[in-house]
Amino acid sequence: MDFDVVVAGGGPVGLMLAVELRLAGVRVLVVERLSEMDQTIKAGGFGRSTAEVLYRRGLWPALEEQKRLAYERMRAFLGRGSGGRPPRMAGHFAGIMVDGSRVDFTDPAFGDPGPAGETLPIGQQALEIVLADKASELGAEIRRGTALTGFDVDESGVGVRLGEEVVRAGWLVGCDGGRSLVRKLGEFDFPGTDPEITGRQALVEITGAEGLGMGWHRTDRGIYVHGPVPGRILTVEPGVPADREAPITAAELQESMRRVSGVDVTITAVHTATRFTDNARQATTYRHGRVLLAGDAAHVHSPFGGQGLNLGIGDAANLGWKLAATIHGWAPEGLLDTYTTERHPIGAWVLEWTRAQVALMRTDPRTRALRDVVTDLLDTPDGATYLAKKLSGVLNRYPVDSTHELAGLSAPDFEFADGSRFGEHCQDGSAVLLDSTDSEALRQVVAPWRSRVRVLTAKCVSHPRLAGALVRPDGFVAWASDDGPDGLADALSRWFG
Ligand SMILES: Cc1cc2nc3c(=O)[nH]c(=O)nc-3n(C[C@H](O)[C@H](O)[C@H](O)COP(=O)(O)OP(=O)(O)OC[C@H]3O[C@@H](n4cnc5c(N)ncnc54)[C@H](O)[C@@H]3O)c2cc1C
Repeated sequence: MDFDVVVAGGGPVGLMLAVELRLAGVRVLVVERLSEMDQTIKAGGFGRSTAEVLYRRGLWPALEEQKRLAYERMRAFLGRGSGGRPPRMAGHFAGIMVDGSRVDFTDPAFGDPGPAGETLPIGQQALEIVLADKASELGAEIRRGTALTGFDVDESGVGVRLGEEVVRAGWLVGCDGGRSLVRKLGEFDFPGTDPEITGRQALVEITGAEGLGMGWHRTDRGIYVHGPVPGRILTVEPGVPADREAPITAAELQESMRRVSGVDVTITAVHTATRFTDNARQATTYRHGRVLLAGDAAHVHSPFGGQGLNLGIGDAANLGWKLAATIHGWAPEGLLDTYTTERHPIGAWVLEWTRAQVALMRTDPRTRALRDVVTDLLDTPDGATYLAKKLSGVLNRYPVDSTHELAGLSAPDFEFADGSRFGEHCQDGSAVLLDSTDSEALRQVVAPWRSRVRVLTAKCVSHPRLAGALVRPDGFVAWASDDGPDGLADALSRWFG
């Protein structure tokens, strides 16, 4: 076997998966068909669920500088002078911006995410650089300019074709984006809904933009967006593109912006541009034997609400340790299949939310009336808090046996008596049993699993009642207790064999 895993696609999800697999000691090859990083404008930021994963892997300092630069650019453009930062937005729904000051962040669902509590306006390319550096540092082999062209699966592994060359691996994961060849050749069902809109997003040189106004605007002809960085424009219009492959020109963007906004802008140069639709589809399973899917390869949808990257990074974090456990031979029965059962419902929810947003962007009078109602509701504290909870991922709960209030949720960034925080103890990617009361009983239960679960004995001051918590490598709480170790042995067997 040349590698344990071949990851097809070196976008953010493939790179994140490579980090997780390397932390678990798995030999991984990432093949990326592009020789240089794709500079097309895509995600302009990511949310709390992604931030938590990156923070727990020690990648926060590398992103701090990007965050500072992003806020600086936004402040300058929005004309808010120096100091402070742009107003806190909780997110948007169909372009209806939700004011962060309306959100009740004391709602217990928000818990304590530590530094990872905010949505970060960091572009996708900056994130990919940080992930590629980390994956390489950990020993992942990343071959750029190398495309997967086919594969053959047998009982013991996968022969992955890279043009003339065949690489032998135990497993193949398709992180090769929305038009995934792995998904097509692997014959994954991919049902969903056909598109009805065309979106265009670009960074351009533009004159006459004073009349556009900042932010999201709905007109009788569609939606247009200007900002929050100079030259960033986005339009949404009814109807699907005649040719999705045709290069996007300045003329196309200019006409679209003029049509939707009614403002006579002139676009003199295009730095980067992308066209998208609301094609919404999801693989019915994320695994066929030795072939798996993650990220856009497993689910496509319009970018409204900014969830695509969060969804894919969540897939990678969920899959990495389960696949590694399977490769190391200690995975309990069915562990790898919980990847689909845990992640599919979250993907399905994101698809539904994007569909609802496209419906609210229609230009007819009835939809306009409905949109006004939704705008009012999202301007209430309950409405804003509900939206913020959904978008931040704090309502994502995996089915686990423990009934503790933390069970199944992403672990809070526990604060300890020595001043350290939980996220700082997660950088090696192992599962952690938090032993908050220095309990011999707890340590005895975990003893047979010590090679798979690290014990962290530390007084938890942020959750003083907590006796112990078993946190999986992906940061989700598999078991927690305010008393003794009841149920801990079952949880350890269920997740760690
Ligand atoms: C306009 C737009 C705006 C967006 N805004 C947001 C946002 O604000 N927030 C958010 O969370 N998400 C956003 N998204 C979604 C986000 O960009 C995607 O969800 C994310 O890129 C998915 O990452 P991925 O690694 O799964 O796929 P990709 O980023 O598509 O990466 C797949 C990689 O696989 C490579 N590849 C393809 N085929 C092969 C092959 N045969 N062999 C080898 N390599 C191959 C490709 O070159 C590519 O590098 C946006 C998307 C768009 C289009």
